[in-house]
Amino acid sequence: MRTPLIAGNWKMNGSLASNVALLDGIRAGAAGLNAELAVCVPAPYLAQAQSALAGSGVNWGAQDLSVHDSGAYTGEVSAAMLGDFACRYVIVGHSERRSYHGETDDLVAQKAVRALAGGLVPVVCVGETLQEREQGATDAVVTRQLKPVLAAVGADLAKIVVAYEPVWAIGTGKTATPAMAQQVHELIRATLAQADASAAAKVRILYGGSMKPDNAGELLAQADIDGGLIGGASLKAADFLAIAKAA
Ligand code: PEP
Repeated sequence: MRTPLIAGNWKMNGSLASNVALLDGIRAGAAGLNAELAVCVPAPYLAQAQSALAGSGVNWGAQDLSVHDSGAYTGEVSAAMLGDFACRYVIVGHSERRSYHGETDDLVAQKAVRALAGGLVPVVCVGETLQEREQGATDAVVTRQLKPVLAAVGADLAKIVVAYEPVWAIGTGKTATPAMAQQVHELIRATLAQADASAAAKVRILYGGSMKPDNAGELLAQADIDGGLIGGASLKAADFLAIAKAA
């Protein structure tokens, strides 16, 4: 049984002042859900998330981490630093990191390993661009992105979370139909199963890309969709909680 995970990706949004109502609202609505909740906040707000959410059952985490342990890497944040704030999750390989920061499949795999070594759960993002989908390359792209991760995490496969995020659906209001998403989720699980069938059955595969309260139910009802990675709708407590209630 895979407990659904509804994880918010705040991206570069929020402020100390505005986060108070969002975090308090999430905390207040978190009881009695069928889903686990988590928020991945900008690094400067980790202490705030920790203090607002500790003891609530809602987890928190970051949106990226360094592949290095420590040293002269200006601007980077290590797994150990995230551990200092009791993070449970860290997103790795988000398409915005891949496209704006040149993150490669291999770097993403190394980041997943760093996260695991630091006691964090990596939420490994994969997904095709619109051009790749139109070329019929979705399966090849997702498999290519996953393969180095599988090789790198090895026996720790069951400890990761995968997020399928079609790039064309992120922040655009376009959502993959439930059937389209399920088809890719099934492929992802089959690819994981080639490495380790029993781990593959345990890994939660989240859908991300314009998931909202009005489309969450259908998406989350699919056999291999085990939750959501939520961008825009995670910035309003009511919407985020409504998605979680649909799980
Ligand atoms: C995301 O960036 O991970 C995401 C899914 O964003 P949105 O929900 O806004 O499409």
